Amino acid sequence: MPKDFLAGVLPEYDVVVIGSGLAGMTSANILGRAGHRVLLLEQHYKLGGLATWFKRPGSHTFDISLHGFPYGMLKSCRRYWNEEIASNIVQLKNIRFDNPMFSLTTTFNREDFTKLLTTQFGIEAEAVSKFFDTARGMNFYDDQSMTTRELFEKFFPGREDVVRLLMEPITYANGSTLEDPAITYGIVFSNFMAKGVFIYEGGTDDFVSKMQAELTKNGVDTRIRCDVSKIVVGPKGVQGVVVNGREIKCKAVVSNSNLRSTILDMVGAEHFDPQFLKDAQSVRLNNSSTQVYMALKPGVTIPESTGDLLFCSTAPNFRTNLLLDRNITSRTFSFYYPRTRPTGKERFAIVSSTNANWSDWANLNEQEYEASKQDLVETTLSALEKYVPNCRDLIEHAEAATPKTFHHYTKHQQGASFGTKFEGLAVSRGLPQQIKGLYHAGSVGIIMSGWLGAINYGVIVSNEVDQLLTKNTPPATPEISTQNAMS
Ligand SMILES: Cc1cc2nc3c(=O)[nH]c(=O)nc-3n(C[C@H](O)[C@H](O)[C@H](O)COP(=O)(O)OP(=O)(O)OC[C@H]3O[C@@H](n4cnc5c(N)ncnc54)[C@H](O)[C@@H]3O)c2cc1C
Repeated sequence: MPKDFLAGVLPEYDVVVIGSGLAGMTSANILGRAGHRVLLLEQHYKLGGLATWFKRPGSHTFDISLHGFPYGMLKSCRRYWNEEIASNIVQLKNIRFDNPMFSLTTTFNREDFTKLLTTQFGIEAEAVSKFFDTARGMNFYDDQSMTTRELFEKFFPGREDVVRLLMEPITYANGSTLEDPAITYGIVFSNFMAKGVFIYEGGTDDFVSKMQAELTKNGVDTRIRCDVSKIVVGPKGVQGVVVNGREIKCKAVVSNSNLRSTILDMVGAEHFDPQFLKDAQSVRLNNSSTQVYMALKPGVTIPESTGDLLFCSTAPNFRTNLLLDRNITSRTFSFYYPRTRPTGKERFAIVSSTNANWSDWANLNEQEYEASKQDLVETTLSALEKYVPNCRDLIEHAEAATPKTFHHYTKHQQGASFGTKFEGLAVSRGLPQQIKGLYHAGSVGIIMSGWLGAINYGVIVSNEVDQLLTKNTPPATPEISTQNAMS
């Protein structure tokens, strides 16, 4: 008989959280800690969503999305998770750029960027300072019509090299382009510039297992392999969910699933105002990614001077659409030294990440798909040769993930790595006005994506759910202070 992953589940909860990405887990944790009865349902066989990892023979563990996040993660983890998790957050000090315009190493913070921009790039100190202050001062309520391209043009006219330095890492960090609203750039860039780039020492497996322990401590009923097919809505709002064919009642639902799937598939178009539905249908998804995971043979080492993160490109100029092109010219290499997993066996791993289009992968037949993956591995190894000479001899395992892989494991439409474009934020925030008790927390609007953005969005939404459950007042007009939430 197949295992019942819902064995012992209660007939009713205060809140059901659909999806255990970082936003879903954080919402569940805060609501559980506040004393609410919380059920967290995850369709995959492990928690974490895109914050995930996998193992291969030879004691190799690969991280999927542990490449870097801003310092704010430390504060958020301390406040909304625990000190043990927060204390493992450490800075990456060797961030490298190598492209036909410049090669440099930086600690990726305001001080070092100011030094680079004024000395190496010859920009006036005043312009640099004004740029940083403008980016730092941006918030959600500002004029959203200015694009990132216009922002750069205002401060550094005609300087493609400066744009490349300032923009390339952020495009990797949240998929934003020069045509997106400048605030999607300004907020995320400023978060990084505050103190630099950080990661979790111990690996994603340790991070998620510590979160799982905290969820249990806070009384959250957590279930894996539980696929929610429907959010049940009655005349007074949310009534429950249908999961693995069973209905479970609840007063509120927080969906951490893809925004469009939540509205269009799990709730259903008939429950929304026509205008809201139109807005939801026109929300654009963000792009997807490809990755190549490479494990070095045991005993092989690479010097730390190779860097922690390396943004490399052979494209003569910076164009955000080139970063998505199947003919890859730009890659981010993450180098994982044994200190990433201090308690494990001494292992070195390298992960290459590239932004990608779903359409370049979705319609290939099986043979073409396998061949394209193999080509991705081969071309990546060729690109790596420059930084790790003879890498083909040093590496004992290499494999690729594509937009289809991300879709398969998270159910994100088109394998979106960073949720939706900017317009998704207003739709996500508008859900409780459409249906009482229905919330969405997860990567949307570029700003709320990434580890820190997702966690902080989970915090914002859990506060609103708590308000609904404790005071039973109608949800307040959406208010979002991204500056406070993310800094
Ligand atoms: C290749 C790659 C590299 C990245 N690198 C970085 C990085 O270096 N730094 C950074 O900050 N961010 C990075 N990100 C982005 C970051 O990982 C994500 O923005 C963040 O983890 C998303 O969290 P989330 O809460 O939105 O949910 P997700 O991680 O998207 O999780 C959603 C969860 O919901 C579950 N689910 C969906 N539908 C259902 C259903 N019907 N029933 C039950 N469960 C369901 C899914 O299985 C999944 O577990 C990267 C992403 C990718 C793909």
